[in-house]
Amino acid sequence: MLLPHVLLTPGPLTTSLATRTAMLKDWGSWDGDFNALTASVCADLLAIANGQATHCCIPLQGSGTFAVEAAIGTLVPKQGKLLVLANGAYGERMANIAKVMGRELSVLCWADGVPVDVAAVAAALQADAAITHVGVIHCETATGLLNPLAQIAAVVAAAGRELIVDAMSSFGALDIDLATMPICAVIAASGKCLEGVPGMGFVIAKKSAIENASGNSASLALDLADQYAYLQRTGQWRFTPPTHVVAALRAAIDQYQLEGGRAVRLARYQANANALIDALSRAGLQLFLAPELQAPIILTFHAPAHADYRFITFYNAMRERGFVLYPGKLTAVETFRVGCIGAIDAATLQQAAHAIVDVLIELGWL
Ligand SMILES: *Cc1c(COP(=O)(O)O)cnc(C)c1O
Repeated sequence: MLLPHVLLTPGPLTTSLATRTAMLKDWGSWDGDFNALTASVCADLLAIANGQATHCCIPLQGSGTFAVEAAIGTLVPKQGKLLVLANGAYGERMANIAKVMGRELSVLCWADGVPVDVAAVAAALQADAAITHVGVIHCETATGLLNPLAQIAAVVAAAGRELIVDAMSSFGALDIDLATMPICAVIAASGKCLEGVPGMGFVIAKKSAIENASGNSASLALDLADQYAYLQRTGQWRFTPPTHVVAALRAAIDQYQLEGGRAVRLARYQANANALIDALSRAGLQLFLAPELQAPIILTFHAPAHADYRFITFYNAMRERGFVLYPGKLTAVETFRVGCIGAIDAATLQQAAHAIVDVLIELGWL
């Protein structure tokens, strides 16, 4: 393969040359320069969420799930109880994490493609005084659905509970304003809307919550309170940091700021999504979600209703043309997903849409 593939997958995703080039230097983890790099990245991440006055940013080695597990295990005390609001695979994963970590758990479920119902959340909190924390997925990547974060945050705060948000696939693009939304912790990672490479998660947590969380974690490596205390004391990560990933994220954030920040990035993703939706719906392919629930992050389309349809055949044919798609993540219906995020623009998505239509016609499925 001479040309790189365009990854239409929401992490790992297509990164810019500048971001990849930033990984050409080796960094010593004890070096003052690397500590400064970590500090600048964390400061910028905190600022993106407008959390400087109240929150802190704690970086963590690993993929996004490591950060979710660390946040639940550190912020929900051993005697606490987590209510998970689940309308897709990532909500279910959060519930599973709480179960594996031995936290008391309650789950409110909605079908794929149905947003969290805020009144039901209020009722569940009213009915169970043991619930201390609520967990929700901002953009449910399994479908691409956007949950009503501001309303959820308001209801949870009104009930006097703490909210933990998996904002993995929304952070940096969709609105998360910690100065106006009462949120205990926001979890995200390097390799999604910030367009870095994968390998680093981070949790933006209320300082008061993290300072009261020492001793909660049953894991050493995933103890965010300890990671934060060590970082405060030494400027260093506790264990070997993903140095090249941090350097790439620094470069990616520089480009993010140059591009114009969150609003401009969101507008680019929206243009990407629109280009794909327009072209594919003209060809008769249907979006799984109602348009008003669709975040411009990842799109789920119904597979063509042909008896011979196989995702893997479709995937391989698309890969030959230079595009990497994502399988559907729904059990009840046959779907495929196309990511709109990464260092790509609407022209790339138009080309991808043409390739999708060509391939499906060639295979006799459209
Ligand atoms: C990507 C993602 C994660 C983390 O997945 P990893 O494979 O561990 O990086 C968690 N939640 C959501 C909503 C995601 O999109």
